[in-house]
Amino acid sequence: VGRTPLIAGNWKMNLTREQAIALASAIAATPPSGSDVALFPPAIWLTDTAAAVAGSPIKIGAQNCWSAQKGAFTGELSPAMIAEIAPLVLIGHSERRLILGESDELIRAKIDAALAAGLEVVFCVGETLETRQAGNAESHVANQVHAALDGRAVEDFDRITVAYEPVWAIGTGVAATPADAQEMSASIRTELAAIDAAYADRVRILYGGSVNAANAAELLAQPDVDGGLVGGASLVAADFLGILGAVSPGI
Ligand code: PEP
Repeated sequence: VGRTPLIAGNWKMNLTREQAIALASAIAATPPSGSDVALFPPAIWLTDTAAAVAGSPIKIGAQNCWSAQKGAFTGELSPAMIAEIAPLVLIGHSERRLILGESDELIRAKIDAALAAGLEVVFCVGETLETRQAGNAESHVANQVHAALDGRAVEDFDRITVAYEPVWAIGTGVAATPADAQEMSASIRTELAAIDAAYADRVRILYGGSVNAANAAELLAQPDVDGGLVGGASLVAADFLGILGAVSPGI
């Protein structure tokens, strides 16, 4: 199928400025082989982190953006402003959906604004434990996918990566089994095929939720899992580089 793996680190609201620069520099010093690499630092360190990885193939992104490019939105992040510093943005992370109350409608509007600003989007979906136990994981995630992506222009699709992140696996130390990650990724790809078959074939679908150096290789070996979105294990250079090493034997 030929999809290049993407390993992305979501630093969330962690690291001092000095720590962020040191971590980005350490990762940039070990050029990835065979995988694309992205880092999502706290927005206030985007400029410093971008400088630290300059000249390396590592891409930087913001963890969130607003749905307008400018205006009276105190405290929000403009996609156009992000685009001056970084090429990527994460949209729809479960912490924003669940803690900040972001709706599918707002998330769709944010994707619209990010694409209009020229950003590439890593779009997150995933079900809670309650939804999974009720047997509704696939339909819930399918709804999230369709709410965000239905009706988009074909040329926009190549700037959207999907990350499947079951909420029950995030930060818990309990990753999905490779079989569950594969089943959900395949289900997402089937939903995407209903929107645009060619996009579904080439889109990268990442798995996120307690990925570490020990489980990354098996998760990413699944045919429909094309990379990882990594939280906790992206905060320590050795751990993140361990994941890169596990999935890219060239390192
Ligand atoms: C995340 O929040 O995107 C994530 C996957 O976190 P963790 O790796 O810590 O589970």
